[in-house]
Amino acid sequence: MADTAPRKQDLAKIRNIGIIAHIDAGKTTTTERILYYTGRTYKIGDIDEGNTQMDWMEQEKERGITIVSAATTTFWTHSDDKAAGKDETYRFNIIDTPGHVDFTAEVERSLRVLDGGITVLDAEEGVQAQSETVWRQADKYKVPRLCFVNKMDKLGANFLATVDSVVEKLGANPAIMVLPIGAENTYTGNVDLLTRKSYLWLHADETGAKYEVRDEVPEEMKEEVEKYRAKLIEQICETDDVLLEKFFAGEEPSLPELKAALRKAVIGYKLVPMFAGASLRHKGVQPVLDAVIDYLPSPVDLDHVKGENPKTGEAEERHLTTEEPLCGLAFKIQVDPHVGKLTYFRVYSGKVTAGSYIYNSTKGVTERIGRILLMHANDREEIKEAFAGEIVALVGLKDTVTGDTLCDDKSPIVLEKITFPEPVISLAIEPKTKTDQERLGMALKRLTEEDPTFQVKTNHETNQTIISGIGELQLEVMVDRMKREFNVLANVGAPQVAYKETIKRLAEGEGKYIRQSGGKGQYGHCWLRIEPQPRGEGFKFVNAIKGGAIPAEFVSSIEKGVKESVENGVFLGYPVVDVKVTVYDGSFHEVDSSDMAFKIAASMAFQAATKKADITLLEPIMKVEVTTPKEYMGDIIGDLSSKRAQIMGTQDRSNATIILAQVPLAELSGYATALRSMSKGRASYYMEASHYDEVPSNIIAQMQSKSTFTGRVE
Ligand code: GDP
Repeated sequence: MADTAPRKQDLAKIRNIGIIAHIDAGKTTTTERILYYTGRTYKIGDIDEGNTQMDWMEQEKERGITIVSAATTTFWTHSDDKAAGKDETYRFNIIDTPGHVDFTAEVERSLRVLDGGITVLDAEEGVQAQSETVWRQADKYKVPRLCFVNKMDKLGANFLATVDSVVEKLGANPAIMVLPIGAENTYTGNVDLLTRKSYLWLHADETGAKYEVRDEVPEEMKEEVEKYRAKLIEQICETDDVLLEKFFAGEEPSLPELKAALRKAVIGYKLVPMFAGASLRHKGVQPVLDAVIDYLPSPVDLDHVKGENPKTGEAEERHLTTEEPLCGLAFKIQVDPHVGKLTYFRVYSGKVTAGSYIYNSTKGVTERIGRILLMHANDREEIKEAFAGEIVALVGLKDTVTGDTLCDDKSPIVLEKITFPEPVISLAIEPKTKTDQERLGMALKRLTEEDPTFQVKTNHETNQTIISGIGELQLEVMVDRMKREFNVLANVGAPQVAYKETIKRLAEGEGKYIRQSGGKGQYGHCWLRIEPQPRGEGFKFVNAIKGGAIPAEFVSSIEKGVKESVENGVFLGYPVVDVKVTVYDGSFHEVDSSDMAFKIAASMAFQAATKKADITLLEPIMKVEVTTPKEYMGDIIGDLSSKRAQIMGTQDRSNATIILAQVPLAELSGYATALRSMSKGRASYYMEASHYDEVPSNIIAQMQSKSTFTGRVE
């Protein structure tokens, strides 16, 4: 397809959007419909048959969940413009976001580059636990949203109850834009409240592209439509002083005035427009695309991005225009079977040209851009340049990973970092043959480049490779991808909790490594002070050596020695965190001192100090939400209590109870099965990492005494 898209002159005609949803709410189906209506998909795929366009990775097809976000460029003309014969094409860059919480890194990185989101909710379930998490993440990144209440055709679907759950669960201020016509299997379309027009998908064929618009409201809905319309107009007027004055004067603002005010309110996070439909039945999706144009921001609305100058540390900002120097964010690394490594890049300012050089200001390296691609759902288009506001894939970058800033080397800026959660679960992986070993290395390099919450370490004692992540599903998917994409055959251990070690008291320790009998001797000697730090501070090393008691080169040997001890742990073999280590005294020998001797002395001093510092273990605590029919509540709470859970509360929802608890991850292995048998399969749960907390001493004692305890997880 020719490169006919609106380009640099038309920033206002770009929408960078994401479809944000709880797993199973219908994100894939809705995305599929959008890609079809916007003209880049030629055959409607169906998620149940596993052949949708966005889910092109094998993995996702099988699991029916979207793991990797791909950015897809499509085009849409507002139906009002179409009706008026105007050719006003808008460019939609759709960034796919995963619905499962184990892929938070994916959600966070995509939210970071979105300008607006469509939240898909299930009309029967309303707001679910994960919808809440994703909603809060979108709040964190200040992403204006509209909601699409999907599955209106489903038994038990209830649009207004879903709107209520948006208020109760999300504390949002929803603006009801439509009322559904019919319900469940008689659902045929919606009345648009602002225009009082009926949108009907009466003959939803297999494409659903056609719908009828009638200038009237079904007789039996008239009263309700007027009631909700009045409420909507009041809500919009409340966000705008001029309109509010008109409203109080009893005058109704014009449609363009209302739409303009609503646009401002959505972009200012004051209102969330609510739409209804059934993607699977091809109903209700097109008006949502019009709403994306009407109410979601373009790059122009965002004005600027913030960052800092990597050289001076001073705050910098860039306006989102082509006139400013180039800057943008690499938000995704993906390997394309045909093209190789793609770096998905959101251009915030300036322009980027194929065949040119670009500065990675996060790493301080210059990279060459081979080609620039615009990714469509089922094809890709090579372009020469990409401008502020666009999302493209760069080919040819070597060192850039997810989250890096790329910019003009003459005007360096590092954009605000994306923060990712720490891994809480690990497993050992052992390649079967030497060839597998080599492939494993390659695979792990790729996968860690793609996903910053996925980490790899080698256990030097056992020579095992340990992979860690933020959830069991994530690790399972990674192991599977190694097998499929990289052909690695490996034995995989059981998932282990990623404990950490820390100290509770200040202590000092001396390390002396002196061997001076015969030949060249060894001489390393230091005193270390270790102090607890607030949770999350990590590890800090301070040099407080005075008067040259130890020369600078050996201080850095000491730092290396301490770092090794910190990584390997001193208690049960877990990394030590939240500790400040100060080297404040020691001595050296002109001839016998060496890097090695000081490294050893440092680790001896660190060991000696930790013995006196009340060392303890920290474990990940999960936030758990169980949804169950009331009759199983007692059993489930009893079981949770036996798992060292802290019950935070319960909530009633129509016929179900939600139990909120904080539970150590170590107690949750096999919980899915246990819950199923306790509730005859009727309860479900959801969990995410909350924080690290101290392991009770009796549990530590048990861990120490268990001869089978091989819990060395880094
Ligand atoms: P995702 O996990 O959010 O991507 O959701 P999917 O698009 O995979 O949909 C989950 C399930 O809901 C699939 O079985 C779909 O066929 C079904 N589904 C999606 N949209 C609708 C709808 O409008 N009505 C009904 N009844 N089912 C739907």
